[in-house]
Amino acid sequence: MSLDNYRNKRNFNKTPEPKGFAKQPNTHTFVIQKHAASHLHYDFRLELNGVLKSWAIPKGPCLDSNVKRLAMHVEDHPIEYGSFEGIIPKGQYGGGTVMLWDQGIWVPLDPNPTKAYLKGHLHFELQGTKLHGTWDLIRFKKEGKAESWLLKKSDDNFSSPLLDYDIIKRETNSVVILH
Ligand code: MN
Repeated sequence: MSLDNYRNKRNFNKTPEPKGFAKQPNTHTFVIQKHAASHLHYDFRLELNGVLKSWAIPKGPCLDSNVKRLAMHVEDHPIEYGSFEGIIPKGQYGGGTVMLWDQGIWVPLDPNPTKAYLKGHLHFELQGTKLHGTWDLIRFKKEGKAESWLLKKSDDNFSSPLLDYDIIKRETNSVVILH
């Protein structure tokens, strides 16, 4: 099955309809949820082997290729969690507002993303609404079950110095209303 016919009939610069990404080979969904829990953070989730591998990024992603953002590895989430936006009641785990900040697909640039993940270094391209270009997610510390990783933008057409453009400050809306 291919979406070629569907896509050929439409000019996606002129129609708000989705381009669709379900059938592109070797792609996976990704999502970033802005989570105003007791401490604000951005949950970065990459679909891999039927689950959403998840990292909590306190400061959120940064387009500056000289800036590394701490990403605490957290438990796998179900794929369906990637479309969740809403309020987790106070007193419940993660209580607070969850907003879909970005979503799209990630394209692994490693031949075997599962191996790369286990080795602690994923290299990939993001095709989201807000985030694009190539990125690295690198594990630098492992203490028991706690893993600390870093998210870093590669230097490319989509990178930009933090002083010129702070995407976390500029992009504050839900990605859902941008479509
Ligand atoms: Mn969270």
